[in-house]
Amino acid sequence: MSAADTHSLLQKNLPGVDFSTDEHALQHYGRDWTRFHTPRPEAVLWPRSTGQVQQIVRLANKLGKSLVPSGGRTGYSAGAVATRGEWVVTLEKMRAIGEFDPIDRQVEVEAGVITEQLQEFARQQGLFYPVDFASAGSSQIGGNIATNAGGIRVLRYGMTREYVAGLTVVTGAGEILHLNNGLVKNATGLDLRHLMVGSEGVLGIITEARMRLIDPPPPQSVMLLALSSLDAVMRVFALARARVKLSSFELFSHKALTHVRSQRELPAPFEANSPWYVVLEFDNAGPADEEAALAFFEAGMEAGDIEDGIFSQSVEQARQLWQYREGISESIAHLTPYKNDIAVRVSKVPEFMRRLEEILQASYPDFETVWFGHIGDGNLHLNILKPENLSVADFQRRCEAVSADVYGLIESLQGSISAEHGVGLLKKPYLPHSRSQAEIALMRQIKAAFDPNGVLNPGKMLPDQTNT
Ligand SMILES: Cc1cc2nc3c(=O)[nH]c(=O)nc-3n(C[C@H](O)[C@H](O)[C@H](O)COP(=O)(O)OP(=O)(O)OC[C@H]3O[C@@H](n4cnc5c(N)ncnc54)[C@H](O)[C@@H]3O)c2cc1C
Repeated sequence: MSAADTHSLLQKNLPGVDFSTDEHALQHYGRDWTRFHTPRPEAVLWPRSTGQVQQIVRLANKLGKSLVPSGGRTGYSAGAVATRGEWVVTLEKMRAIGEFDPIDRQVEVEAGVITEQLQEFARQQGLFYPVDFASAGSSQIGGNIATNAGGIRVLRYGMTREYVAGLTVVTGAGEILHLNNGLVKNATGLDLRHLMVGSEGVLGIITEARMRLIDPPPPQSVMLLALSSLDAVMRVFALARARVKLSSFELFSHKALTHVRSQRELPAPFEANSPWYVVLEFDNAGPADEEAALAFFEAGMEAGDIEDGIFSQSVEQARQLWQYREGISESIAHLTPYKNDIAVRVSKVPEFMRRLEEILQASYPDFETVWFGHIGDGNLHLNILKPENLSVADFQRRCEAVSADVYGLIESLQGSISAEHGVGLLKKPYLPHSRSQAEIALMRQIKAAFDPNGVLNPGKMLPDQTNT
C-alpha cells in the first residue's frame, strides 16, 4: 500500500488518532536499541486513550494489519522493532499520572509514563519506586511491564512485576480488560495481570497501570571495589550479604571499565588494574551500619579478595561511583554490541563464566567481549563487540554461531537465555533452550486466545514452527 493510501485509510477510519507515514518517523519509531534489523513499518500511530487503542486494534483485526506496541524503544531484544509493514502503536502521548491514594500507596499511570517520571512522583510523595536502570530516563512503564524489567536493585526489591497492582489492557481481539484493580488479595482464579507482565506486546497493549509504591530506604552508601578473581567476586558477595544490608551488587570487567572511562572521560578509580570490579549499594543509616561496612571491607582485604576500594562519603560521590557501572551500556552502544542477557542460579555463576570464557577463547578469539551484570541475581550481560572490518550482517551470523554454544551451555545449567531483556526477534530461535516444547505449545495457545488473528507483534517471542 502506498503511503498516500495508508494516509487516507487511517484518516478515514481512525478520526482523532494522530498518525504519520513520514519516512523519518517510520525509521525513528520502527527500531529500538538493537541495530540488526531494517525498520519498515507502514505507519506510526499515537493514541491518546484506551478507547483509541481499542479502535486501532479493532481496525487492525478488520483489515488484517499487524501492530507493534511501542514504549520508549530502549529494548535490547528487538521486541519493538517493526520490519514487515506493521503499524507502530506508540504510547508516548499517554503520559498522564492520575490518582494517587496514600492509603493504598498506589498510583494510576498511563502506559507511556517514563520510568524516571514515576520514580520522581514517588519521591514527591515521600515514597519510593525501586525499579531502576540506566535507561530509566527513556523507557516507559508500559514497556517495563511488558518486559518485566529488572535492573540494579532486583537483589533487594525484585522485578517490575512486584509493583503492578492493576492493569488496563486492550487484548489482540480488541477487548478492554481491567485486571486486579489494585487489590492486595484476590484469589479469583487465574491472575491475568501476571500473564501480561513480561508478555512483550504479544497478548495485549497495556494502556494503564496501578503501580505500588513503597517506603523509601534508609540513606544509602556505595562502594566501588577492585577484586582479584571471579571466585573472589562470589566470596565477596557472600561476605557482603552476611555483613551489610545490600541493595545492589553489580559486576563489571576491566574491559567494561576501559570503555566507560573513555566514553565518559572518567578518571581511573584505582592505581592498579584488577580483573573485576563491583559496585555495592547498602543501607548506611548510622555508625553501626558504617562500622559493619568497614568490617566487611577489611575482612575482604585480609582474605586477599578485595584489592582496593572506595567508600562513598557523600550522595554526589555515590552518584559518581555508580557512573562506572551505569555508563557501560551506553559506552559500547556505537560498537553494535550483540547482547547476551543470560541468567543461571547465583551459585553456578563462576562455573558458567569459566566454561563460557573457554568457549569464547577457543572458537572466537578475534571478538572483543565485555562482561557486566547484576551478579547478585545470577544475571550477566555478555556483550560481543563488532570488529570494525566486519559488516553488521556477517557479525550477526558469527554471533549466532556463538549463541548456539552459549545457549547450549546455559541449557545444561538450567539457566535462562533472557533474564530481563525479553525474547523479541533476536532471541526467539533460542527459546527452546530455556522453555520446554510443552511450555511453548501452551504459550501459542494463550497467544491465540488473546489475539486470535495474530495482529499483535507477529513473529516475535514464539519461535517459528520449524525451530521448535
Ligand atoms: C542503557 C540501557 C540499559 C538498560 N538496562 C536494563 C536493565 O538494567 N534491566 C532491564 O530489565 N532492562 C534494561 N534495559 C532494557 C530496556 O530498557 C527495558 O527492557 C525496558 O523495560 C524497555 O522499556 P521500553 O518502554 O523502552 O520498551 P520498548 O523497547 O519500547 O518495548 C519492549 C517490548 O515491550 C512491548 N511494549 C512496549 N510498550 C508496551 C505496551 N504499552 N503494551 C504492551 N507491550 C508493550 C514492545 O512491543 C516490546 O516487545 C536497558 C536498556 C538500555 C538502552
